Amino acid sequence: MALNHQNVPVFDAVVVGAGFSGLYMLHRLREAGYSVRVYEAAEDVGGTWYWNRYPGARCDIESIYYNYTFSEEILNEWTWSSRYAEQPEILSYINFVADKLDLRRDIQFKNRVAAARYDEHNRNWEIRLENGTLVTAEYFITAIGALSASNIPKFKGLDSFKGEMYHTGRWPHEKVSFSGKRVGVIGTGSSGIQAIPVIAKEAGHLTVFQRTPQYSCPAQNHPYDTEVKFKTRENYDEIKQLMQYSMHGIPSGPQLRSALEDTPEERERQYEEAWQEGGLFSMLYRYNDIHRLPEANETAAAFIRNKIKQLVHNPEKAQKLMPTYYYGTKRPILDTDYYETYNRDNVSLVDIKAEPIEEMTLNGIRTTEADYELDVIIFATGFDAMTGPLFKMDIRGKNDVSLKDKWADGAELKTFLGLATSGFPNMFMLTGPQSPSVLSNMLISIEQHVEWVADCIDYLRKHRLEAFEATVEAEEFWSQQCHALAEMSLLTKTDSWYMGANIEGKPRGFLAFPGGVGLYRLLCDDVAARGYEGFTSSLAPNATDKGLVKEGFFKKNIDPQAWFILKQLESTGMPPMEMLTPELARMADFRLLAGVPEEVQKVENRTIPVAGGEISVRIYSPAGEGPFPALVYYHGGGWVIGNLDTVDVPCRMLANRAGCVVISVDYRLAPEHKFPTAAEDAYAAVEWVAEHAASIGVDPERIAVGGDSAGGNLAAVVALMAREQGGPTLAYQMLIYPVTNHSYDTDSYRNNPEGYFLTKNTMVWFWNHYLGDEQDGQNPYASPLLAKDLSGLPPALVITAGFDPLRDEGEAYAARLKAAGVPVEATRYDGMIHGFFWMPGVLAGAHDGINQAANALKQAFNIVKTK
Ligand code: NAP
Repeated sequence: MALNHQNVPVFDAVVVGAGFSGLYMLHRLREAGYSVRVYEAAEDVGGTWYWNRYPGARCDIESIYYNYTFSEEILNEWTWSSRYAEQPEILSYINFVADKLDLRRDIQFKNRVAAARYDEHNRNWEIRLENGTLVTAEYFITAIGALSASNIPKFKGLDSFKGEMYHTGRWPHEKVSFSGKRVGVIGTGSSGIQAIPVIAKEAGHLTVFQRTPQYSCPAQNHPYDTEVKFKTRENYDEIKQLMQYSMHGIPSGPQLRSALEDTPEERERQYEEAWQEGGLFSMLYRYNDIHRLPEANETAAAFIRNKIKQLVHNPEKAQKLMPTYYYGTKRPILDTDYYETYNRDNVSLVDIKAEPIEEMTLNGIRTTEADYELDVIIFATGFDAMTGPLFKMDIRGKNDVSLKDKWADGAELKTFLGLATSGFPNMFMLTGPQSPSVLSNMLISIEQHVEWVADCIDYLRKHRLEAFEATVEAEEFWSQQCHALAEMSLLTKTDSWYMGANIEGKPRGFLAFPGGVGLYRLLCDDVAARGYEGFTSSLAPNATDKGLVKEGFFKKNIDPQAWFILKQLESTGMPPMEMLTPELARMADFRLLAGVPEEVQKVENRTIPVAGGEISVRIYSPAGEGPFPALVYYHGGGWVIGNLDTVDVPCRMLANRAGCVVISVDYRLAPEHKFPTAAEDAYAAVEWVAEHAASIGVDPERIAVGGDSAGGNLAAVVALMAREQGGPTLAYQMLIYPVTNHSYDTDSYRNNPEGYFLTKNTMVWFWNHYLGDEQDGQNPYASPLLAKDLSGLPPALVITAGFDPLRDEGEAYAARLKAAGVPVEATRYDGMIHGFFWMPGVLAGAHDGINQAANALKQAFNIVKTK
């Protein structure tokens, strides 16, 4: 430790908190040679596990996964006794690690940080302890846990109760005796549900005051046998990798099936298996849509409600214990004999929604219906989560703005990656708001955060960068992603502490990153690999390399939303398409990216004849009186995959916005049907529309063709065919990042061969399935760019994406059309990726593209009408 000229201690980093995250942060930074001081309010290490000593406290993630993974030695030297370790064992483990790494020498216990202020002049933090001591550090790192600010509701008369009162999160060190006492527990979250069965065994009488009944599943706890321990240790590298790239930080994940696909009997069998197996996510992982679809969710919820009915003998009590919120939208709960406890004679249950607590009295609790005399009251009422612990300190960034004010008490919560927030340079939050933390196995999240922060500090030091700060654009973007992801699930539909809804007056909003720890890791790693894009920093006076200073968030680069989608797709671990069979590749379901289909006046499915068979079409009609102009639309998918559902959302949007009938065509796919079947089907569809215009409310004089990717290719080819074969006169061709040439010899192929959704290898795979032979690729009906003459073709819109191997061939086609005298509107969406047109659920750029296309169609139809 050094002193500055005013004798104030100077550290490289100050870390607040000596729980799992603070301890590892200390170790990592100290090993890298930095001077670090940890301040901890408690008397010893442990964080959450130091404070939460209530009876029955144990972890809800299996012990073998709930430990540090960074050290082989620590892994080898520690053995867990049971599947879900109890609090004393977890605390012993933390102590063991603290001793082993000799961490205590840099921790000051019984010292609470009261305030931290960023000094813009010196580019460091001044940290003040509650006892008045002042220290400074370049980096200020909060490791205070997401659930450390206990919540004791402000009941009237709280101080008048003469008995004992405890909060589960601030439990005394000495044993609390319940023997023969009348005990009241308020709250039935994870803490209450763990404590209630244990307290009931000792208490004279236990009264549970329940506000919201919970879904709880049996932990199925048991001592570990030697074989489990041996196998886990032997395969730990693989297990670690699985945990790091998983959804919740444990080595398994959801099944790929919908709950609605199975028969009720099979579902029952699945849920029963999950129930017997135990595990925090066992039930949720049975299907992939329990967290997302109300009907799927209800199947799991009903199963648990039925279990409650079976387990609790008194039907009235059972009824009170039945939850109705969406299962899994509060942290799932594991218990040991929770519901069975209500069969005991000494346990009663008060529904405080039906009879709210009015006040605490001298002798107990008064509800609107009765007085409950008690000797002990236990508040299992949870925490002011995520933002609460941060707001307990007076943290001030640039211009003396406090964090609490910047985030408007949480209403304007904004971070980048949940790690940093603009205006607070060199401050890192471990497992803070908008990170996956509380939704995951904390240990996996903690290690990832600590390692990312340590690497970042190394980078900053190496390149002499100071005042490292998230940009406003980056945190705006990140916060939007957190909200958007949460909205895609049922998480935001329940009043939970995830939403801040448990604290009176706390602004409501989803507080964590719900995309999973695997995706989160990929995103964080990518930001680091891009030289910490999304952050700004200043050069130290003695530094030279100005190129390292970032000014914005992905400027002149890939669109952040598109980047996010790419990482999401990467995190699914899906093999490249070319490794699959066409049948398997066709099973990929991207509907979430498309978003919610909007209403159109009418949707009709029909079949139409084509040479040698028939194909389906889906006809979308807009509101109003026909006849309408028409767009014959061809979906993308390399002529091998894709279907009417893939483009359902953009077709609806185009019908509504362009005021036209959209006929989406399910042409036959390769390799079953090779070139030129798709092109001939596409052409037959246009002829059919022209011939049957009256029957589908279409004006035959105003028919356009359009499509995306391979569908764009088909639209261009149909325009050529119509010209050459004397077919219907087409009003317009709408070509969205079209395939126009069987060649890979463009800059866009060279610059974007992979990493941007459509890869060169996948294109090769598509072409090989589509074409009968190389010669076919030279045919203008496969490669319209090779057509000798493009004159006389309908006016065109050509939209391309900046990060797309097909960009240049689309633009080359636009240039040739123009050169041939065809009116062309050509737009490149710089930051976008291939496929963006059908991703309006997640990309603002898709809305722009669809709106542009709809406007262009409207204009083209108007021009024909007024001719
Ligand atoms: P919690 O889940 O927030 O539960 C608090 C309980 O108190 C809820 O039943 C809540 O009812 C009730 N409550 C809150 N304010 C109330 C009021 N004013 N009047 C009446 N009742 C009120 O808190 P927790 O049980 O301490 O758990 C918090 C989180 O800590 C868990 O979700 C979990 O992530 C973690 N935890 C983990 C473990 C573990 O196994 N490792 C153990 C304990 C806790 P409402 O539901 O109506 O709000």
